[in-house]
Amino acid sequence: MNFCHPKGHLFVPDNSPPADALQRVTHLGIVAHPDDLEFMGWHPILQCLHSPPFRFAGVIASDGRSSPRAGIYAHYGDDEMAELRLSEQRHAAVTGEYVAIASLMYEETGPVMGGQNSSSLVADIGQMIRLSRPSVVVTHNLCDRHPHHIVVVLATIEALRHLGPDYYPKEFYGGEVWRSLDWMNPSDRLTFDVSEHQNLTAALMGIFDSQITGGKRYDQATAGRKRANATYSDPHTTDQSSALEYAMDLLPLLANPSQEPVEYASQLIEHFLQDVRRRLLSGGKA
Ligand SMILES: [Zn+2]
Repeated sequence: MNFCHPKGHLFVPDNSPPADALQRVTHLGIVAHPDDLEFMGWHPILQCLHSPPFRFAGVIASDGRSSPRAGIYAHYGDDEMAELRLSEQRHAAVTGEYVAIASLMYEETGPVMGGQNSSSLVADIGQMIRLSRPSVVVTHNLCDRHPHHIVVVLATIEALRHLGPDYYPKEFYGGEVWRSLDWMNPSDRLTFDVSEHQNLTAALMGIFDSQITGGKRYDQATAGRKRANATYSDPHTTDQSSALEYAMDLLPLLANPSQEPVEYASQLIEHFLQDVRRRLLSGGKA
């Protein structure tokens, strides 16, 4: 299977032929970095856990070579770091029972991840969607603060629009990484209970030791965010779950293919603004 970057490749844990493997995919996660799937997408991963016919696969756009490093990784060069992160992502694919991982290997400091030329990324993502025809597509949300995440969500929207309605998934949403979606009005956002199997999601996150020992406790912060979402989701009821994931619905951008993503994101922010104004202007009345 060929991708635009010469180092791009598909990893299939059970060694079945790529076309056969991709035909089994029902849930496709499309993200910027090795580890984003495991920090952002507990819900789609758990939906596919021992639950045939649901099967999960991932697409990782960048090579992860520029991540900060410390401890035993402090002396790693960029090439070694890219190799290590590839290895961590493969371990996660095995542990999480993914069908496949496509590592597109765009350099983090290059023009594709820099948002200057997305045509090859759009083509690679389009190929993965075309061959796997997923019913659920998960990517980053439009209000994320990481520039690489924005590159990937915009490329994913473009790839789906280019493929057309025959390839549209039934569910298409963007999850939380570099910005929580707690601010979104509850009626606008998607909420997923991810209370179950926290031993497994903790194990999946823990595989990315280069990122965590590298100086950032993403594992604790991610689990804490989902725990906080569960407790702060409703002030009037006791906790119904111990972890919730929030996501931005992106399906309206397929239903209305002429709407610019920036306009859709602005609409959601406008709804939030209206909610804050209404509460303040009413003096706190419900
Ligand atoms: Zn990321």
